[in-house]
Amino acid sequence: MAKNSARNYSQLTIKRLYGLSRNNCAFPSCPVELLSSEDETNFSNICHIEDANPSLHKSDRYNPNMTDDERRDFKNLLLLCPNHHIETNDIEKYTVKVLRDMKRNHESQTKQKLSGKDLIGKHPSALNTVIGHIGTDFFGDNLPDEPITAPNPELKIQFNHVIQYRPIIEEYSAYQGRLSKIYDEIERIGSTKKELVLRNIKKLYLKEKGKYNSFDEIKENADSIFSNVESELWELIDKSDNTNNDLPIEAIEISLLVIMVDAFMRCNILEEPPKA
Ligand SMILES: [Zn+2]
Ligand SMILES: [Zn+2]
Repeated sequence: MAKNSARNYSQLTIKRLYGLSRNNCAFPSCPVELLSSEDETNFSNICHIEDANPSLHKSDRYNPNMTDDERRDFKNLLLLCPNHHIETNDIEKYTVKVLRDMKRNHESQTKQKLSGKDLIGKHPSALNTVIGHIGTDFFGDNLPDEPITAPNPELKIQFNHVIQYRPIIEEYSAYQGRLSKIYDEIERIGSTKKELVLRNIKKLYLKEKGKYNSFDEIKENADSIFSNVESELWELIDKSDNTNNDLPIEAIEISLLVIMVDAFMRCNILEEPPKA
């Protein structure tokens, strides 16, 4: 096929096309790798959104008012695998608008993946939102000075035989009142973060609980259960995309313990003593 000037792509246009394709066909969810790292296999077809010439697809995707410079421009091109290049020749289905959207979506996915905001891999976590609020409220200048009324954690600590975490629970249970205010505040902006955070902690506890056959075994392992739930929560903090990068790590650590101790007091972690 003779090269006409609508196919005379500039070096920069080709670099942009391939660089932004992440080596994938632009067709949604097409798994074809365009270029192989093993050999010289090349499945990439440079496809014109508005056609390079009138005869090619006998189509109304040819725009007579376009110049060849516009036809060979990055904006008018997308990379497809051979199958999808043929499939998209169906001009009834694959109009100029459909192909433009396809190109835009594919390239913006590339941007998201490169920035770590991969929609499949990373999501915001409710836990990080709550930590963000605690971090700024507890350690900022606007400390509320109302007295804190927290229930006595002793009964639950003893009932579950918590040993190592006892001092931490005793220390942080005092913040339950403040945390409760923060949960209310978040709820007022119309979100169910508290419910999500507590349910997730409960789920992690239940997974731990499933490792043991009896309450006696749970009691023997109370500290390691608490610590495993803590590790799982750290992983969640790390893996979500709304990490509180502006907070010092110490503030995140303390905030997490405030949340965990509150969850312990609400019996989302470890077992509830029988009511007297
Ligand atoms: Zn084409
Ligand atoms: Zn394809």
